[in-house]
Amino acid sequence: MRERSLQEALGEELEACWQLSCTGSPDEALTRGREIYERAKTAMIKPVIALAAQQIAWYCIQLGRAEDGVEPIHEAQQIWTEQCSLREAASATAIYSRLLFELGMIDEAYHEAAEALRVGREMDDPSLQSFALDVQAITMIYSGEMDSGRKLIDEAYALQEQYDDPSMHILLIIHDALMNAKAGDQARDTGDIAAFKEHYRQAVALNERAVAMAEATNDGYRLRLALCNGAEAHCVSGDIEKAHDFIERWLEVPGAAGDSRMVHFLYSKTEILTHAGRTAEALEIGEQALLLAERTGITDHIANAHRRLSEVHEAMGDFDSALLHYKRFHTLDKKLIGEQARRRARVAEIRFETDKVKALLDQATRRADQLAQEALRDPLTGIANRRALDRELLKLAARVDREYAIAIIDLDHFKAINDRHSHMVGDDVLKKIAEALHSSCRTVDLVARMGGEEFAVLLPETTRAAALKVCERMRKSIVDANWEELAPGLKVTASIGLADSSEGNTPLDVFSVADSRLYAAKAGGRDRIESQGTQTAEALVTLH
Ligand code: GH3
Ligand code: MG
Ligand code: MG
Repeated sequence: MRERSLQEALGEELEACWQLSCTGSPDEALTRGREIYERAKTAMIKPVIALAAQQIAWYCIQLGRAEDGVEPIHEAQQIWTEQCSLREAASATAIYSRLLFELGMIDEAYHEAAEALRVGREMDDPSLQSFALDVQAITMIYSGEMDSGRKLIDEAYALQEQYDDPSMHILLIIHDALMNAKAGDQARDTGDIAAFKEHYRQAVALNERAVAMAEATNDGYRLRLALCNGAEAHCVSGDIEKAHDFIERWLEVPGAAGDSRMVHFLYSKTEILTHAGRTAEALEIGEQALLLAERTGITDHIANAHRRLSEVHEAMGDFDSALLHYKRFHTLDKKLIGEQARRRARVAEIRFETDKVKALLDQATRRADQLAQEALRDPLTGIANRRALDRELLKLAARVDREYAIAIIDLDHFKAINDRHSHMVGDDVLKKIAEALHSSCRTVDLVARMGGEEFAVLLPETTRAAALKVCERMRKSIVDANWEELAPGLKVTASIGLADSSEGNTPLDVFSVADSRLYAAKAGGRDRIESQGTQTAEALVTLH
């Protein structure tokens, strides 16, 4: 009860965290998400741990620190898989695919998104499908495969009609705009100016739509994204005034943007000011962008800031400075490739580490199972022990209407066998007895060694008459066994006490009836079965 309410409370906090990230404060969402994660860890509430880890990964993506999200998303994937939550595991995979994209691992991102998409289709989950399709679309845009990107985005748009998720819808529009801008660049490079203009017209219109929708839903995060991208699109299409308007509105978005988004804003502004010929202002903003980029330590940002500064200096006619920044940009671009290789290695390493931990866990679980099995086995004969029998008796006690019989078997004059033939031969006798009893029963029957030379057989769903037949078979198989192979002159017999479920209220009652019958069988001369209907011990005792 307490755990459930804590789980609910943490779930609500995570929901609030999510809202916080949507309204434009992923930094704060990340800090709070990590707190919730720690609390869920302490309380060991697995679904909350997984959900928090998943959100942490998403905030890391939003903050441009995708690398930090690899470990959390792996943990989420593992927990969901362990818990057989297929849908959640698939949505974690979808986030993982987006993360791989951010890390520049394009093929891997596409592949993981395909896996999430497959599950989304199987489960008829439009939200999961949209997300996965969006990731696939951006990998296509990145690779310059605009036709494939178009198809994927259109498919995701169609899904939007089936469910209402404005934040996903806005993201799709932003990526559609991005695709148009890229297609526009491609057209310009091939000299197709009409296509270039048309694509940029589309890019601008789409960003405007995204801005309006993000404003209407208070989605600060996507509003900033659309404003920055929109400003750049306006700038390329030559509408500097509109570009300015967009970039100024960026500053008015409530909530903390975070350093990463701020760098994006600053170099976008630098570019616009450069295009507008306001080079002195551009230089100032560009330098701010570089400072902040260096503070974030993200190579991609630093490289971008240098490229913009190089453009400003070029526009100002200061070619030496322009060259200097360009060289820095170029070196960092090369560094980025190296970093990407390191990131790949790190992702592989984390995968390996978590898989290794999982393998160890599996091993430990198997060992625990094995120990539990061993605890129920008799080490000498390998059959069930007293504990296993007690457990079965308890289970029987819970099922009142079941018919069953219990036989207790005790070897006759076993002490003498030990004395005459050695303890080792005695042990072999016990093993052979276990085998003989086993082969006289069905697989559903439980043959247990109670200790010493005493065995018990539990016969479920068995009538008294049938049980008696089994006992006779057991007794005979003992007498008739080839004991000479163990020791010359060795003979073994056993006495058996049998009782059935009609003779006691509980399995333990039935067991003690069987036990007293065993003593009657001993008193009656051994190598015999005592059951209801045979002469009672008292009668025999009095006869003697
Ligand atoms: P009865 O016919 O009345 O049952 O006589 P018994 O000799 O079989 O009965 P008793 O209880 O006097 O002796 C049982 C013997 O079983 C004593 C003990 O040394 C022997 N024993 C108990 N556990 C083991 C074991 O694991 N291995 C061997 N070899 N002997 C055992
Ligand atoms: Mg005995
Ligand atoms: Mg005994």
